[in-house]
Amino acid sequence: MDFKLTEEQELIRKNVREFCEKYVEPIAAEIDENSRHPAELFHKLSEGGWMGIPIPTEYGGAGADYLTHIIVVEELSRSCSSTGFTVSIHVGIGCTLILLFGTEEQKRKYLTPMAEGKHLGAFVLTEPGAGTDVLAATTTAVLDGNDYVINGTKVFTSNGPIGDTYLVFAWTDKTAGRKGMSAFIVPKGTPGMKAGEHLRKMGLRSSQTSEMIFKDCRVPKENLLGKEGMGLQMAMSGFDSGRIGIAAQCVGIMQAALDESIRYSKERVQFGTPISRHQAIAWMIADMATDLSAARFLTYYAAWLKDQDQSFRKEAAIAKLFASEAVMKHTTKAVQIYGGYGYCKGAKVERLFRDAKFTEIGEGTSEAQRMVISANVLR
Ligand SMILES: Cc1cc2nc3c(=O)[nH]c(=O)nc-3n(C[C@H](O)[C@H](O)[C@H](O)COP(=O)(O)OP(=O)(O)OC[C@H]3O[C@@H](n4cnc5c(N)ncnc54)[C@H](O)[C@@H]3O)c2cc1C
Repeated sequence: MDFKLTEEQELIRKNVREFCEKYVEPIAAEIDENSRHPAELFHKLSEGGWMGIPIPTEYGGAGADYLTHIIVVEELSRSCSSTGFTVSIHVGIGCTLILLFGTEEQKRKYLTPMAEGKHLGAFVLTEPGAGTDVLAATTTAVLDGNDYVINGTKVFTSNGPIGDTYLVFAWTDKTAGRKGMSAFIVPKGTPGMKAGEHLRKMGLRSSQTSEMIFKDCRVPKENLLGKEGMGLQMAMSGFDSGRIGIAAQCVGIMQAALDESIRYSKERVQFGTPISRHQAIAWMIADMATDLSAARFLTYYAAWLKDQDQSFRKEAAIAKLFASEAVMKHTTKAVQIYGGYGYCKGAKVERLFRDAKFTEIGEGTSEAQRMVISANVLR
């Protein structure tokens, strides 16, 4: 068993950390406060090659492994969870699904600019009446000549208002049940597709989330991803990869909350001594360090399995479930260590606490992860 990261992975971590300290950390509070998508930052992320780390070089990526991408998401999330998540869903679901299921032409036309960071991807599955219950979706895609015509309303689409390449899931044959949904690549500007207003959220505020409305939206037949009826299978496969990214997002938030807690507890004096010397605080920090280690190992293990081409659905769900529940306990402790100052704007732990909650909901709630895990261990 080798727990050591490669020299290349360590170097990329160092480079991303330096990048974050220079470009992400200084704007993280402002983009959260204003729910602003930092286009200028994403331009720099593209230049750095961070938007397509695990995608082969022939399709515009860096040709590295998935674990390296996970380290990038972790380090970005340590400074700004919204930025980490945007990269995570763009690469982990958007790019990954086209890489796995796209035709050669789709890879050249759509994946390459995405992996180069010129185009941002979006995953358009959830609907107002269909969250955990994906099969309750009502959006349809009807073949008409050489086009599919998409009609329906989606909700909670990350990158909705700012995306370039949308992966849209719709029924092509509702009577076929789990084999009746299909996925389509819909480029920005396609007539009939419209993004709603950016939703105001508790956390992850600079990640842009919106409704997507499809009204007689025509896409050519060649924009079908995979085969007709494979939509659900592809969505689940996208979740498998994406969930490791959410777990990495948790690890980044946890590292930041621990760093902040250690620093503050050594500075803050009460009863004539730094609060870190009060055992109650020291033990909170010990528990935080323990949860962080466990979350990081589970996350890296799931990514490593993916890189070995081994099955990783259960391990991705385990990593996401553990890390997202741990990050909630962890950021609660960080706010507690800060006392009243942690409850106020200006303390980084306040933002980390709000950002953490998303991880128990997005890409399948904790209950959904338990469904995946129990289905795998009880069979
Ligand atoms: C910030 C943000 C970004 C998102 N980005 C995207 C995106 O890019 N693309 C996309 O398609 N979706 C996205 N989502 C949607 C997300 O995946 C859904 O919110 C999530 O799957 C839950 O669906 P829901 O919100 O409709 O909750 P519901 O499914 O209505 O669930 C409500 C509650 O009931 C529980 N529940 C439901 N069914 C069961 C059951 N059978 N057993 C036990 N408990 C159950 C859930 O766990 C939850 O606690 C995003 C959501 C958020 C908040």
